[in-house]
Amino acid sequence: MRQWTQAKAGLPPVDLDDRDVTHLAPDTIRSIAHEVGFDLVRFGPAEPGEHGEHFLRWLEQGRHGEMQYLADNRDRILAPDRWRPGVRSAITLAADYGGPAGELPGGGRIARYAVGRDYHRWLRDRVFGLRKRLERAGLPFGSMNGGADAVPVLERALAVRSGIGFLAKSAMVISPVQGPYLQLAELLTAEELPFDAPASGTCGSCTACLQACPTGAITAPFEVDARRCLSYTTIEQRGFIAPELRAAQGEWLFGCDVCLEVCPFTRKSPLLGVAGSARPKDLQPHRIVQTWTLVDVLTMDAARYDNEFVGTAMRRATRSGLRRNAAIVLGNRGDEAALPTLVEALRDEDPVVRGHAAWAIGAIDAHRPELEAARAREPHAQALAEIEAALSRR
Ligand code: SF4
Ligand code: SF4
Repeated sequence: MRQWTQAKAGLPPVDLDDRDVTHLAPDTIRSIAHEVGFDLVRFGPAEPGEHGEHFLRWLEQGRHGEMQYLADNRDRILAPDRWRPGVRSAITLAADYGGPAGELPGGGRIARYAVGRDYHRWLRDRVFGLRKRLERAGLPFGSMNGGADAVPVLERALAVRSGIGFLAKSAMVISPVQGPYLQLAELLTAEELPFDAPASGTCGSCTACLQACPTGAITAPFEVDARRCLSYTTIEQRGFIAPELRAAQGEWLFGCDVCLEVCPFTRKSPLLGVAGSARPKDLQPHRIVQTWTLVDVLTMDAARYDNEFVGTAMRRATRSGLRRNAAIVLGNRGDEAALPTLVEALRDEDPVVRGHAAWAIGAIDAHRPELEAARAREPHAQALAEIEAALSRR
């Protein structure tokens, strides 16, 4: 009897006893997975194969930025059976989340995957539900949840190897039948499942995403430098965003969908034109997306953040990061009506907010006298440098 600790996946410990293995018909697994809400279900190897080498190169080049957990877990990411002995197959899963653009009233864009209920929650609900039903139907205990970022696996690699989709030049997985707006999840299992063939389809000669990426983060086909990608800088990165990336951030408050929006496979998404209450409940816009403005985001105090940013993936960016992002977007919008709020933010307790407010004021009206007053009192070196840079735009 082996005991697999499921703590990392947020699951209770479970026992695996090979003598108890009951084989489930692959079609039974697929139909249960569809019933719990997954659009695509495939079976494939539980390790990333040749994609692992690309991951190692990406790490060596430092392209993971501050996502140190990827480097720290590299061994287990490359070989999931190192921390879950007995894993033989991956049940790979994908759910479509395409839809209308997410935008706050008055401006400020949200990546589509974060518009509705926190995907960690609804994906986990579905994966846990699937696991429970498969175990009740006879899949051996010990299957583990690798979905919704709960455990470190190269889920794009597993999805490609099992035929969920092909690896695109944007480094995303694109399903030839559902398009690129896919939330991926997987169950790794001790069951030996018949592996599916890789998906057909390629990018062909298209390079639309490389040309459209506002920051040049797709440095070559299949190569994304996370340090330049808005999905990283606006969400994962803490502190100050590099000045040369701020104008390119444009309207993006949280994440970025540009490389998806320009992709010709996008039109395959069945939910793309489905809006409002016609959308699945988990994908309907969060209250914040429906009612908040950029000024609300910039000025929210800790209590409002704690109370209102419940059940949204936007919390990942932290209160400081969201307020920083709001200042950048206000600066990019050139919104003079926001100047009083930005001037007020020069006195904020958070130097990151003060610094980005100074940048935004410099972008809208560098002649505001409050910048000089802020320079005289600013104790934080980096925030002070931002104020001086704003003043130099006069
Ligand atoms: S998410 Fe945006 S910034 Fe990142 S690679 Fe795609 S287009 Fe570029
Ligand atoms: S935009 Fe073109 S190159 Fe980029 S992922 Fe889509 S098909 Fe591939």
